[in-house]
Amino acid sequence: MALIETHDLRFVYGKGTPFEKVALDGVDISINEGEFIGVIGHTGSGKSTLVQLLNGLLRPESGSILLDGKDIWAKPKKIRNVRFEVGLVFQYPEYQLFEETVYKDIAFGPSNKGIKKKDELDQIIRTAAEFSGLKESLLEKSPFDLSGGEKRRAAIAGVIAMQPRVLILDEPTAGLDPKGRDRILDRISTYREKTGSTVLLVSHSMEDIARVADRVLVMNHGKVEMFDETKNIFKHGEHLAEIGLRVPQITQVFLELKRLGADVRTDVYTMDFAKGVALDFLRGGEKSEGGGQQ
Ligand code: ADP
Repeated sequence: MALIETHDLRFVYGKGTPFEKVALDGVDISINEGEFIGVIGHTGSGKSTLVQLLNGLLRPESGSILLDGKDIWAKPKKIRNVRFEVGLVFQYPEYQLFEETVYKDIAFGPSNKGIKKKDELDQIIRTAAEFSGLKESLLEKSPFDLSGGEKRRAAIAGVIAMQPRVLILDEPTAGLDPKGRDRILDRISTYREKTGSTVLLVSHSMEDIARVADRVLVMNHGKVEMFDETKNIFKHGEHLAEIGLRVPQITQVFLELKRLGADVRTDVYTMDFAKGVALDFLRGGEKSEGGGQQ
């Protein structure tokens, strides 16, 4: 059974007002336990709306969301529990830090979830801080004294500390410099490897998605445009461009070589894999297996 499923999901902002806006319509997706899903789409395609529906922050206009086969809105009073199971890190989550110390901020979620034993809570907080790459010495500081990247990591730690089964991150690297972006992305990958959690990553960066996702969900005007394995998605460079997206640069290179008549594979989207494919091609081997797994 899938961990999360949506059926004919629809969401409308400002229903019945002159500003009514259908943000999602007819969305059917299915996500298995342990998958790393990348979510891409142009601005306004419905990505944020979808992830807020998945963790029960927004309620669908129609259609359903199943977690472990159960409709999350079957008992509306229990919707809070869904938010512990499906943890959502918002865009610019640092604006949600509000306690006097980073430690207390990270403790907020798990305490609310019902973890009261001090030792257990302490362990959870330290593990979450480690996963997000936050130095222990920062735990007793005020969140306001942290750098931009550190604040972001503190906010991510706060959601990881709830030990959600699904971790959703909405543009977690937005506004960070390339080094900061790589660090956060690496931490998320490690977290997923070590915990086996299901992760959804919303990102504008095709390079980021290519590096980490098993499957990619492409949203377009509130609908699912494609949902497939990463290598299959980036083969559709032209189609992605038509809907305002672009494939990773390295994929563009291979698509262009193909267009120029070279007999190369086009399902190439990471640098390591590309090196193997390019070397084999130069040696005269046609469409070889390249550098192994991407
Ligand atoms: P994305 O995350 O892909 O940028 P969103 O889910 O934020 O897309 O937005 C989907 C659509 O819903 C867009 O047309 C957007 O303008 C609209 N929308 C988003 N939030 C609101 C809101 N609070 N009120 C009205 N319309 C909104």
